[in-house]
Amino acid sequence: MTTEKPASPSTIPAEIPADLGSGLASRLERVRATLRHHLTPSPEGVCLTCSFQAEDVLLARLALDLAPNLPILFLDTGYHFAETLAYRDQLARDWRMNLINLLPAQSVADQERQHGLLHQSAPDQCCKLRKVEPLFAALAGYKTWFTGLRREQARSRTALEESADFALPGGQTILKLAPLAHWSTRDIWYACEMLAIPLLPLYAQGYTSIGCQPCTTLPLDPNDPRSGRWAGRKVECGIHIEAAPNPSAPEPGRAA
Ligand code: SF4
Repeated sequence: MTTEKPASPSTIPAEIPADLGSGLASRLERVRATLRHHLTPSPEGVCLTCSFQAEDVLLARLALDLAPNLPILFLDTGYHFAETLAYRDQLARDWRMNLINLLPAQSVADQERQHGLLHQSAPDQCCKLRKVEPLFAALAGYKTWFTGLRREQARSRTALEESADFALPGGQTILKLAPLAHWSTRDIWYACEMLAIPLLPLYAQGYTSIGCQPCTTLPLDPNDPRSGRWAGRKVECGIHIEAAPNPSAPEPGRAA
């Protein structure tokens, strides 16, 4: 795997390097084979979560080629960038996505009236209410969960497996699949380029990991793509902790 970490798609040459081309094609075929195994002849019981960042969109494109009605789950926290929502809506229209926007129990206005700005005072609690709980409730309706997670994204994900059982709070276990787990950032950019997948315009502004607007800045460390998330206060929203156990990761209480 390459260790190169381009800061954004605009920092890479437009032409796919010769050393990458054939390797990328075979990696794409391997991902397609995994998707085919789980989505055909029927995608029943399968979903894919999509933050509309590049790896999720790439995986969604490959999956939709096999199962056009596959449920695509998006965590509609109410705090996203306007650019993310516009891009989501455009892609959902263009790709005729079966998009399911997962909403928290409370609106942003109600949460802020009751608790104030939790993303400032208690981001773990905010993520729990607006991301973790809505997603886990939705996942209970499925047996298999595809995600675009990758090891290279963060230190907390270096032990990520392509396939793992995932226990939901209610005790149900589902299969969590991350077929891009071993892909580099460079692989993702070039695969999107190869497949003519348009990217979230915020990448062109220098963002390298994009979540809710109040908790996302430009990367603080050019070698750490997630260093612009939560201003270094935490590294995970809490959804993926179980799938990426890592002794060097923050304590579970901190990494909600
Ligand atoms: S990322 Fe920030 S705004 Fe979004 S749910 Fe978590 S704490 Fe709240």
